[in-house]
Amino acid sequence: MKYQPVIGLEVHVQLLTDTKIFCGCSTTFGANPNSQTCPVCLGMPGALPVLNKKVVEFAIKAGLSTNCSITPRSIFARKNYFYPDLPKGYQISQFEDPICQHGWLDIKITGDELKRIGITRIHMEEDAGKLVHGELSGSSDGSGVDLNRACTPLLEVVSEPDLRSSDEAVTYLKQLHQIVTWLGICDGNMEEGSFRCDANVSVMPVGSDTLGTRAEIKNVNSFKFVKQAIEYEIQRQIDLIEDGGTVVQETRLFDPNSGKTRSMRSKEEDHDYRYFPDPDLVPLVISDDWVARSRSELPELPEQRQQRFMNELGLPAYDAEVLTASRALADYFEAGVAAGSNAKAVGNWIMGEITRSLNDSGTSIEECPVTPAQLAELLKLIDSGVISGKIAKTVFDEMWKSGKAPQIIVEEQGLVQVSDSGALETIINEIMTANAGQVEEYRGGKEKVFGFFVGQVMKASKGKANPSVVNELLLDKLKG
Ligand code: ADP
Ligand code: MG
Ligand code: ZN
Repeated sequence: MKYQPVIGLEVHVQLLTDTKIFCGCSTTFGANPNSQTCPVCLGMPGALPVLNKKVVEFAIKAGLSTNCSITPRSIFARKNYFYPDLPKGYQISQFEDPICQHGWLDIKITGDELKRIGITRIHMEEDAGKLVHGELSGSSDGSGVDLNRACTPLLEVVSEPDLRSSDEAVTYLKQLHQIVTWLGICDGNMEEGSFRCDANVSVMPVGSDTLGTRAEIKNVNSFKFVKQAIEYEIQRQIDLIEDGGTVVQETRLFDPNSGKTRSMRSKEEDHDYRYFPDPDLVPLVISDDWVARSRSELPELPEQRQQRFMNELGLPAYDAEVLTASRALADYFEAGVAAGSNAKAVGNWIMGEITRSLNDSGTSIEECPVTPAQLAELLKLIDSGVISGKIAKTVFDEMWKSGKAPQIIVEEQGLVQVSDSGALETIINEIMTANAGQVEEYRGGKEKVFGFFVGQVMKASKGKANPSVVNELLLDKLKG
């Protein structure tokens, strides 16, 4: 029997607000344990939560950017469970009437084909604290709880079970990641847990319209692990069914070392949490005006920007996609174009030399030592024939290291391109004399030797010869 995998993702997006969702404590990462706490986030009886408006604004932005409708009157609910990192005994979340509903993302699957993935809901909630074990807790065999993270704002983005492969799941996840980082509402750091994902996986016979029983895989913290975890889980379920077993609804943990998932606990049901509206928080009313204002404040989103790069700047689809990988990269590109360079050329340099240098040095585009204006100056030197494309790479490396303007580097190092045919002819004559054998071969019809001569001239001129003038002169002289 052939099986169809079905996947739905629940993504937790930690919001970049300065303060927590229901109190004024700082959200800065890495502070001393329990130094960023107050009666509200410590869960003291009688302390009252007050909703952070910024969280609502971020949630609306996320919803509008994923085609959701914004719920005019949404409700906070208590999700009751016990764990030592949750002193209140409940998490404030949303259950019925979450802030955003019925959205979607169109993901790119093969080639240009788009597939629409439904977004069931996006709701706001608070994070729990963190348990620390061993030395970090203050005693080698002890455990402690750090409540700095308690009450940190999260959005949970729940997809419909519309994904059909691990690749689709990763594509969807990357697109969502791109949107929330683009909006500046999340730093997107998966390792630190600012963007984390639970994957729900089931399989059903191909052609069936009844979904199979799902397992939920918890907190998979990189795109690579998401793919691995889903693939392992699909195969595990197929093997189980083929052996006559049945999949049970449960929560499983992914182990990155073995690449396997293992059972953690049987899956809880909604009613286990005894959800009920939080009596300490009034319903959140969001006016049409508020939504309209948020909509008008949205930045141009990656998809729209890609389209504009293609339509207005004439970029190929591939370039437009790469250059909109992040908002900072797209801004860099546009600043280069605004400084007067040809869009395709700026794009090529960003995708080539700049990306390579950023990767080699572990630098982000925000910290790129070569500014877009400097890159544009470099490209002007190439366009106007002052330096060759090849020398430009040497100049670029020097710009990267020293931060100097390209003109200065070209002058200091004497890198001006030699286009003067007199000077080049002298070089060519010498090379032809020294390589009379190859000249004969060329004249005898072995045209491949042409490349050898070009190489020799470039070498003799230390890369400074103007390649098109060299080509012209060589063609002429080699004819004899
Ligand atoms: P819970 O909190 O119980 O996990 P949610 O409604 O928050 O429930 O999330 C359920 C997730 O599981 C959604 O992303 C949904 O698309 C997905 N899902 C539901 N049924 C299936 C299924 N049969 N196979 C795969 N994924 C599923
Ligand atoms: Mg869940
Ligand atoms: Zn607090």
